[in-house]
Amino acid sequence: MISVEEALDKVLSCVEVLKPEQKPILDCLGQVLAEDVYSTIDVPPLDNAAMDGFALRAEDTRGASESSPRYLVVVGEIAAGSMPLEEVAPGTAIRIMTGAPLPGGADTVVQFENTDEVGRKSSGKDLSHIGILYQAKKGLNVRRRGEDVAKGELLLRKGRVLRPQEIGALAALGRSTALVVRRPIVAVLATGDELISVDQPLPPGRIYNSNTYTIAAAVSRYGGIPKILGIGRDSVQSLTERIDEGLDADMLITSGGVSKGDYDMVKDVLAEHGEIGFWTVCMKPGKPIAFGVINKVKGRKKRKVPHLGLPGNPVSSMVTFEQFARPAILKMMGKKILAKPTIRAIIDDDIASTDARRLFARVVVIKRGGQYHASVTGPQGSGMLTSMVKANGLAVIPENSNGAKAGDVVEVQMLDWGEEQGEVKTSPIVSIVGKSESGKTVLMEQLIAEFKKRGYKVAAVKHSHGVMDIDHPGKDSWKFSQAGSDVVCISSPDKLAFIKNLDRELNINEIMPIIGPGFDLVLAEGFKRSKIRKIEVHRKELGDDLLCSLEELSAIVSDASLETLTGDGRKPPVFRWGDAVAIADFMEKNLVLNR
Ligand code: AMP
Ligand code: MG
Repeated sequence: MISVEEALDKVLSCVEVLKPEQKPILDCLGQVLAEDVYSTIDVPPLDNAAMDGFALRAEDTRGASESSPRYLVVVGEIAAGSMPLEEVAPGTAIRIMTGAPLPGGADTVVQFENTDEVGRKSSGKDLSHIGILYQAKKGLNVRRRGEDVAKGELLLRKGRVLRPQEIGALAALGRSTALVVRRPIVAVLATGDELISVDQPLPPGRIYNSNTYTIAAAVSRYGGIPKILGIGRDSVQSLTERIDEGLDADMLITSGGVSKGDYDMVKDVLAEHGEIGFWTVCMKPGKPIAFGVINKVKGRKKRKVPHLGLPGNPVSSMVTFEQFARPAILKMMGKKILAKPTIRAIIDDDIASTDARRLFARVVVIKRGGQYHASVTGPQGSGMLTSMVKANGLAVIPENSNGAKAGDVVEVQMLDWGEEQGEVKTSPIVSIVGKSESGKTVLMEQLIAEFKKRGYKVAAVKHSHGVMDIDHPGKDSWKFSQAGSDVVCISSPDKLAFIKNLDRELNINEIMPIIGPGFDLVLAEGFKRSKIRKIEVHRKELGDDLLCSLEELSAIVSDASLETLTGDGRKPPVFRWGDAVAIADFMEKNLVLNR
């Protein structure tokens, strides 16, 4: 058994950076620049206005203010795209739009807002003069020729990966094409007698070929061009024919047929036509992998094509693709950073590792309280592609480690950095409602303690019907408020209190910005009229009815069975009074994570 690193080294030693090609810039996104790009022009090509306003000489504004404007004669107007016809002589100004070239004589642009133009227009005054209301510094609102890129400057170095901004920068120089490292063509072949194509009805005993699609999509995602070879059957002849069609590609990826089964023929084909490495890699999923270089296939001229034979199980083939095919594609594209981006996260579940292999567990990573947390995406069978569908990362549990315990810090290879998987931006709010004396505050206390135990950053908001218990008559805060202060804030070494006089009651969404962002959970007590997720606390002794309608409630917590209340079939779940752990589990799953 070889390590993941050894296997990767061997794969990378068999692939080379491809030749460059000249292409339209818009087709180069994600490709690596194969030339140094020098600017042949100044950007911007001329001094120009950074604001709409008046081009003038700064010295003509000396001493100007709103109460004593400096009046200048307006001698012309220039729009972006045209060249100035007039010059600015002392005592004159030219009306100018953003991006228009600065006329000769002018050194400064004063924006409309700092002139009396609006007042003149509304009072019907003539516009042959303009009042400047502000003493401008020389050079204000002027973009200098070549300030972005000077002629002859090295703008982009060879090796740079082209993103939208680099493509735009090339366009700004007037370049319509660029020299970039070619994208690799990757032939993709599925193998297996049981496979059937997605455009066919499904006969008994067969399954749809999904690997071709995951692999081809991953090839495209990382910048390669997939060439689909269809499905090879489990015979040396069928596989040889199919592989033959892929030999003008830069790389061949097959899936399936590499284990020890009777029909696992990929290795036989490779043994016949190439230099084959057939490995057991110290990883799970994905132990059996074939890798080699195909030298010849019957009837074709010799060509060396690296061949990665991935396992057939959908998860195994994807995980091994990420570890071996992705870096190979990136290397061929001329990229320097081949490793998957990784983060360190607290694992929220125990992960058992029964053998000595490196385990890649499918996890979903979210940020809570400034810290990444990773939780396992349910059943982890290597045939269950849904474990990947739910995941945005692969937690790497080292070989010989006996797994990980909840709370351990583990390394996670990120599969995606989608916005929705990143930092949770708005704090989820859940309110606890109920009749008075139903026990809302007790449940609040229990839930706060439970969520703190789970590592949450919690905010609690209390709705008060009447007098606020914190604002006691006679206290300094009360005195300040009585004297008329709109806000009274009390700061002490360990607490901050904030009392604001209002002319109407705020709803919870208006309160949130005052509390501030970054909470993993906001628990509100009350607020039964706000449109937020609600859990109602119910006490049998206060009657059988509820305060809110069933449609409004996410859950009910009660000391009664409530069958009569929720008998209409669409009931929210009912939790036993005092079972804070179960309530928190439900909230975590349905109201916090799956918002
Ligand atoms: P193999 O490595 O060929 O023994 O395949 C292992 C498992 O993966 C078997 O259950 C196959 O049916 C399944 N499998 C192989 N290739 C594919 C594919 N292209 N799409 C979906 N499942 C596959
Ligand atoms: Mg098979």
